[in-house]
Amino acid sequence: MKEFDVVVVGAGFAGMYMLYRLRRMGLSVLVIETADDVGGTWYWNRYPGARCDVPTMEYSYSFSEELEQQWRWPEVMSAQPEILEYANHVADRFDLRRDIQFCTRVTSAVFDENASRWEVVTDRDKHYRCRFCIMATGCLSAPNVPDFDGKDEFEGSSYHTGLWPKDAVDFNGKQVAIIGTGSSGVQAIPVIAEEALHLTVFQRTPVYTFPANNHPLNTKTESRYKENYLQVRHMQRYSPVGMSTFMLPKPNPDAPPPSSILDTSEEERREALHDIGFSAFRTYSDVYTNIEANEVACNLYRDTVEQLVNDPDVAEKLKPRGYPIGCKRQVFDTDYYEAFNRDNVTLVDLTANPIECITPLGLRTRQDEYKFDILIYATGFDAMTGALNKIDIRGKQGQTLVNKWADGPVAYLGLQVHGFPNLFTITGPGSPSVLSNVLVSIEQHVEWISDCIEYLGKHQIREIEPTTDAEETWVEHVNQVAKGTMFTAPTCNSWYLGANIPGKTRVFMPYVGGVGRYRKKCEEVVTSNYEGFTLSPEVNG
Ligand code: FAD
Ligand code: NAP
Repeated sequence: MKEFDVVVVGAGFAGMYMLYRLRRMGLSVLVIETADDVGGTWYWNRYPGARCDVPTMEYSYSFSEELEQQWRWPEVMSAQPEILEYANHVADRFDLRRDIQFCTRVTSAVFDENASRWEVVTDRDKHYRCRFCIMATGCLSAPNVPDFDGKDEFEGSSYHTGLWPKDAVDFNGKQVAIIGTGSSGVQAIPVIAEEALHLTVFQRTPVYTFPANNHPLNTKTESRYKENYLQVRHMQRYSPVGMSTFMLPKPNPDAPPPSSILDTSEEERREALHDIGFSAFRTYSDVYTNIEANEVACNLYRDTVEQLVNDPDVAEKLKPRGYPIGCKRQVFDTDYYEAFNRDNVTLVDLTANPIECITPLGLRTRQDEYKFDILIYATGFDAMTGALNKIDIRGKQGQTLVNKWADGPVAYLGLQVHGFPNLFTITGPGSPSVLSNVLVSIEQHVEWISDCIEYLGKHQIREIEPTTDAEETWVEHVNQVAKGTMFTAPTCNSWYLGANIPGKTRVFMPYVGGVGRYRKKCEEVVTSNYEGFTLSPEVNG
């Protein structure tokens, strides 16, 4: 059995950077990845229209100044092919692939308490031993395909947006169906509609989506970023969501403090919406914290849908109701509503008419039968815990992670779990992860973990794991800060809460306290000699 200092699972942006850091520390590292190449999310999600919804000048690695200065993004929010090209460039530039075992899935990771080693097993029946096991398995990497009756009997081609094939899918002259109107569906629908003979959209919950306003990146903006990257990165790291305010207009110190949307007149609200679009909602003090204020914003939103969609019946079906803006991950679109004005696009409202089964030729709802050549599942992911729970992870006394997390994930800082020494999770539950520009959170975790491993080596520490006290206190804090936000509103059913997966315990999983605040907490833990963690010395140490 081959032994490594560290085994990293996953070769997305987290696994790639983890490898880079650990290798520079002189450690032996093996990265294991299911795909046949690097990129993670951007390898798997090749569906038409897939792109970043934050500026890619900020959704990019900061660890190499040369890389940062030399790389050129074509658009403000670049598309999947360019982001994958960037991941490939990073792999080439830092010669990462030689330590990555591709086309291999990790099936189990079991802790050997006597030897203080993790034994990692793959679907190729290979066994590896390592001192540290790092899960860089991603928060949105376990696709969710609903268990519809007859799912396997469909005779056409079916695809999940998160498992999209490498060869382009030809929609020309085809009847296409798509289930799901979250971020992936909203990006794919207008692009597929351009090519398909006909597109039928099966919608269960109408979405709140804001215009992305994407455009080519001009050289002036690019230069400003590149000249000020140090400052930009610093702002990102201590910001609420991992984004700098670098390109935003400086706040006017004489401007009045934000007002309540409830205190403004209908006319003022409409004017604000007209002038600055949906970001107007953020200028009010209470849209995201008070359900009554939120409903005022939802009403304005629904009016806008009415203006954008020609057919009043279709507009009515597209209007979200019954849950607040800001409870789910904000969706950004390009020409989403306009797509429903096309003659070749039909909307089916599944709330009134749910799917009964998939048939060999299409699908059947309670009231109708539909036939199509291609079926697309834009049905999301078993988020945050899905990829981890697919691996049989066993810690001390044979305890499984699945059991430990049966009532929702429990972890200290989203980095480590009591009972699973020397196992780390990058962007794990209880960290800002998916509530941030994820690359910023990835870099912070990778750097924290590598510094920790270095510290353990220097101080002859054999094992690190959090105390139950620290873990419980942190989970309480994570719940506390989410309380009263739209994320945990009783009418909210988001994947942040696990509500998209039948049977999954309803628990709010990410940390909403902010990237900067979280980072400071992690820094304090280190300065206080890893407060909240138990450090066990080497037996002969
Ligand atoms: P991933 O990129 O998911 O990589 C994890 C890797 O682990 C995968 O390649 C997977 O194959 C591998 N893996 C998992 N389990 C195993 C196993 N058992 N054995 C072997 N390998 C395994 N974030 C943003 O901040 N901004 C955005 O605009 C944005 N857009 C997104 C768009 C889409 C379509 C999706 C799905 C997500 C988006 N995200 C976005 C979130 C995105 O997931 C992160 O930004 C980031 O790419 C995650 O990197 P990662 O390395 O942590 O995980
Ligand atoms: P998602 O947001 O979970 O959306 C899934 C969609 O499928 C929802 O409309 C959901 O309806 C529907 N659905 C699920 N199960 C269904 C069923 N059994 N019957 C009918 N409809 C069903 O998934 P996603 O769109 O893939 O996005 C996931 C996350 O990935 C995003 O929130 C974001 O973090 C990331 N992402 C980002 C971008 C980007 O713009 N950068 C793009 C894509 C993805 P309900 O709402 O009723 O459950």
